[in-house]
Amino acid sequence: PTTIHQSFAEQVERQPDKALFELPDGRSVSYGDTERTVRLIAARLVADGVTPGDRVAMQVEKSPEAIALYLATLRVGGVFLPLNTAYTGAEMEYFIQDAEPRVLVCSPEHRAGHAHRAGPELVLETLGTAGDGTLLEGGPDAPEPEPFTASADDPAAILYTSGTTGRSKGAVLSHGNLASNCRALLDSWQFTGEDRLIHALPIFHIHGLFVAANMTLTAGASMYYLPKFDAETIIDLLPRATVLMGVPTFYTRLLRNDRLTAASCSSVRLFVSGSAPLLASDHEAFRARTGHTILERYGMTETGMNTTNPYADGPRKPGTVGKPLPGTEIRVVDAATGRVLPDGEVGSIEVRGPNVFTGYWRLPEKTASEFRADGYFITGDLGRVDEDGYLSIVGRGKDLVISGGYNIYPKEIEELLDAHPGVLESAVIGVPHPDFGETVVAVVVPAPGQEPGERELLDFIGGDLARFKHPRAVRLVEALPRNVMGKVQKAELRKRYARLFT
Ligand code: ATP
Ligand code: MG
Repeated sequence: PTTIHQSFAEQVERQPDKALFELPDGRSVSYGDTERTVRLIAARLVADGVTPGDRVAMQVEKSPEAIALYLATLRVGGVFLPLNTAYTGAEMEYFIQDAEPRVLVCSPEHRAGHAHRAGPELVLETLGTAGDGTLLEGGPDAPEPEPFTASADDPAAILYTSGTTGRSKGAVLSHGNLASNCRALLDSWQFTGEDRLIHALPIFHIHGLFVAANMTLTAGASMYYLPKFDAETIIDLLPRATVLMGVPTFYTRLLRNDRLTAASCSSVRLFVSGSAPLLASDHEAFRARTGHTILERYGMTETGMNTTNPYADGPRKPGTVGKPLPGTEIRVVDAATGRVLPDGEVGSIEVRGPNVFTGYWRLPEKTASEFRADGYFITGDLGRVDEDGYLSIVGRGKDLVISGGYNIYPKEIEELLDAHPGVLESAVIGVPHPDFGETVVAVVVPAPGQEPGERELLDFIGGDLARFKHPRAVRLVEALPRNVMGKVQKAELRKRYARLFT
């Protein structure tokens, strides 16, 4: 199948009564049930005037119907545009003006706040979490429209990037992008219809939607579909599940719970982590506690998944994100010249393959500047490839500190700090400095009950670092600022400490 919707239709045909969603209240929603909702919503979207290529925006809480809305959008040839539920006033204004959706689906309780957007160009619909909302009222009794036959290049979705390094950009993903990446992941992780996934991720982001949900419904599997992360609920479900997909903070929080044991994980065959770097200490602690080695993979909104540690054929190396998925090519180059670097050297990560998006929505110049002439996409991440072909992410190009003309990779310093027993985690940033241009500041979260001194930390790491890399200030904080995907907001830290030396 070339589209996710076709794969779903095949599963509906094959096993209409199988549960797709298992809900916390004990209800289950089958493939057949979901298909009925998809048709209902598809009819409604057509009645709202959605034609192929039109955007259908959604900002709602997680529900099975929200996934049905996604599938219905694909079914009528629309372009699905899920928005972070945390976005408010000015942010929503930007996304709606930028994307110009034909339909905006919001929660019933937010309808009034969006009412001013409705007009001849935009239809406002609602969708609640209790099977309620105008979207489910169906369309007119006209004959059902034929499903849209998408080609691999047709746009399927616009996903906005997380906005970690600046303003979120809309990445236009084609049907071919989604279907090929899903296939590569199913094969790599041996994910089948027998699997029972714990789905606790948001569905407005690539991880929860295009990795977790697409894989489940393409394989014909089931998911325990949770509104949000809750350690107790997840530990209760583990004995019935086979796979958990999470962001690193899931694992940090699970490890804080004593009920996480080898016995509680005995039916699980795979724990996946991605979207942000997994702390090496969590990786080790998880293995020691449960006997499971978390599989870390690397992806981004613009490309879907790029690399993964092996499921079966090779070791999962902590601190690496593994090797390219089948069909995807990765190279590490000198950012300035584009020259491919030898293994072991740090450079800019570039990627090419059927997973790579077609471009940023309405940003042709930005798109052009992020692609090389030979089709490689410049990810903006820095990394290196080891002698076995495993990629490590060293950080983001934008987080690189340049002090007195020297490049400093924050991760090198963070790893040394994190090894100190008094440190839980750290974030190293560059802040303006009158002499050096930029200088290094270490923001440190102490381990529970600890209060490591600045001098002690600097002495601890100093021996392993050239002088120019030594932090000029250490700040202890209770927690690092993170967004919902668990990404550390370094831009926010840079703002906070911008005036330390100026
Ligand atoms: P923006 O592009 O708007 O600044 P963002 O890059 O955080 O935001 P996403 O597309 O959600 O938006 O995230 C992709 C990025 O997440 C990657 O470019 C990479 O920096 C990071 N990432 C993903 N997986 C991993 C991983 N396993 N280890 C380290 N970093 C990762
Ligand atoms: Mg990005």
